[in-house]
Amino acid sequence: MQQASIYTTVVSKQSKGDIYESYLAVKSAQEESRRLPSIAECAAHLELLQAFRHIRSEVESSRRLDEVFGIKPENSTVFRKRMVYEDHGSSWVREAVKLRDDTFEKRREEKWPLFLRLSASRFLSWVDAIEEDTGRRNGPDQSLHIPPLDVLMVWHALLLNPKWFRSFEKRKLERLSTVAFPWQQIHAAISSQNRNWPFEQSEWDRTWFQDKSGLHPDLFGREEGESRGLEPGDVPRISSEQSDLDLHELGFLESCRVAVSKDDTIEKLVDAVKRQSAFVDKMDRQRWIRSPAIEGTLSRGILRYERFLKLFKLYPQTMLVPTLDIDLVWHTHQCSPAQYKSVTTEIAGRFIDHNDRLGTATLDPAFENTEALYRIRYADEYRTCNCWDCEALRSAITEEGSNIQSEAASVARHAYSKVAYYRAVEVARQRGEEVVPIHNLAEINGLSRTEYSEL
Ligand SMILES: [Zn+2]
Repeated sequence: MQQASIYTTVVSKQSKGDIYESYLAVKSAQEESRRLPSIAECAAHLELLQAFRHIRSEVESSRRLDEVFGIKPENSTVFRKRMVYEDHGSSWVREAVKLRDDTFEKRREEKWPLFLRLSASRFLSWVDAIEEDTGRRNGPDQSLHIPPLDVLMVWHALLLNPKWFRSFEKRKLERLSTVAFPWQQIHAAISSQNRNWPFEQSEWDRTWFQDKSGLHPDLFGREEGESRGLEPGDVPRISSEQSDLDLHELGFLESCRVAVSKDDTIEKLVDAVKRQSAFVDKMDRQRWIRSPAIEGTLSRGILRYERFLKLFKLYPQTMLVPTLDIDLVWHTHQCSPAQYKSVTTEIAGRFIDHNDRLGTATLDPAFENTEALYRIRYADEYRTCNCWDCEALRSAITEEGSNIQSEAASVARHAYSKVAYYRAVEVARQRGEEVVPIHNLAEINGLSRTEYSEL
């Protein structure tokens, strides 16, 4: 049995009418703007973060992008004197020695910030296109075409600075501030069973992006007959003063030119993406998206997030710091700014900004304080271990309608065996194996196969 995608699982459960119904049922625009993030949305968010993580490692390791950015090893030759001994005495000769460029690997790391500057510049073009595209809009805005992954990454990072977003460079983003983040389309664009989490826009979205922004959807390359993507030597060429470029290349390269020139907005956007990468790495280490307890982890996270928001109302002068699970739900919420604003105003009593610039000297004492308040208020632990084992156990204990009877040892055995199975599936995926392990139900219940079949 292969692990089904959590997003699909949750969606299909919903259609059968169980507890998830309230999260995903189609609601009026007013109700929609008043709800917390759903399990499915948080799960799609985890998928997106994995896709972000992959694009970064792809850029960092890409030889082709080394060429695009003009990063190449500069092996130098030096001449050294060497004494040569011959029959009739000795003499000095000059000998050429090739030296390896040990700055090369270091310079390759510069690709990521450069790539992000291009992405930020493309994001700005996309924003113009989105805001100008006023046609086809009646009622709730469901028609937003998802942009390419690099643009999406910048949009996402900007949204996680809610206050800045609301007055983005003294400009009101009318459409982007009302639209709900397109989680469903994002989920559909990511192949979540693939270990690299490839992200692919639909043809429809690619065409829209290309027509409206004038940019190629794929920063990595181009196909025949389309406008161009990045090519070797582009970045050094546009940085230099003299232009030897064809006219048809200028449109695309103009955005590159903006990106590599000194521009405050672009710098700020790039910093926002970089600040997010620590969170991306944390989520990757947790790998909740592959955990057997993902539904439980997220539904508990949503509940804990709601409690966290209430603390803002109860202790208005206090700085509150989230745990990792709460932070994920909080980020998911911020991605849909209109919902975020109305819900936080209602639950927290005011609009809550999210500051990801604080260091541990500020965060640590504030976290301890939050922990104390949470425990007093809710008589529950704030800081919990979120590893697969602990989460699976928590889910097993609270799970209703499971066929395991109340014997504690068997609940624990069931939970750990489920974790072992999911780990094995993930290992197989990482190794690129086609066949995934079989889940042995008998083993789960601590019985031998024969005993199991007799039941
Ligand atoms: Zn644990």
